[in-house]
Amino acid sequence: MGKSLANKSLRLKPLMNSSIRKDIELSILSAVIFGICGAFIISEYTWGATLLYTDLHQYGLWYLIASFGLVLILQDTYFYFIHRMFHHPLIFKWMHYGHHRSGEPTPWSSSAFDLPEAIMQALFFAGVSFIVPLHFITLVAALITMTVWAVFTHLGFEVFPTSYKNYWMGKWLIGSMHHSIHHRKYKVHYGLYFRFWDKLLGTEDPSYLNQTHT
Ligand SMILES: [Zn+2]
Ligand SMILES: [Zn+2]
Repeated sequence: MGKSLANKSLRLKPLMNSSIRKDIELSILSAVIFGICGAFIISEYTWGATLLYTDLHQYGLWYLIASFGLVLILQDTYFYFIHRMFHHPLIFKWMHYGHHRSGEPTPWSSSAFDLPEAIMQALFFAGVSFIVPLHFITLVAALITMTVWAVFTHLGFEVFPTSYKNYWMGKWLIGSMHHSIHHRKYKVHYGLYFRFWDKLLGTEDPSYLNQTHT
């Protein structure tokens, strides 16, 4: 197991303890921002200002599932464009450098965001609560998906075999290798869940499909 993971490692440089500590500090800061955002959403809900609902049958079960998919697509789109903006040289240093500080992605860096980036990311959830009718379960499921997905794409080793990129899932979903290339090259792979926007707007690394784990 250890050997096979070592073979699959995408990491080029050893991890630095100091950068892990910094990643943890930024992750705690991000958790606080998301907590404040959650409190804001709840207070707006109690005032009746959001479109959040609690009755499972209000829009039906099919809508519960469809709205979950819709939130992921909207979040992926929002993230793609703010992420491209974060990489603009004028703002990168103070908006997004914290996420790239450790160089190679690590699970510690998966939620390590500078304050402005954490606010921008949390704002999505506040905004979508006013625009799309969402059950609380859908909102929480999207938050859990985001967190688990971020750890998955920052593992530093590929979980799936190389051939996975040629199957349906790998063709459309972003995995560890895909996001590791973003941490190395900066100018490609801005997506969060899906490869759609990177493919459409020409920010997918042409060599991605030929890359192997080693
Ligand atoms: Zn980035
Ligand atoms: Zn990353």
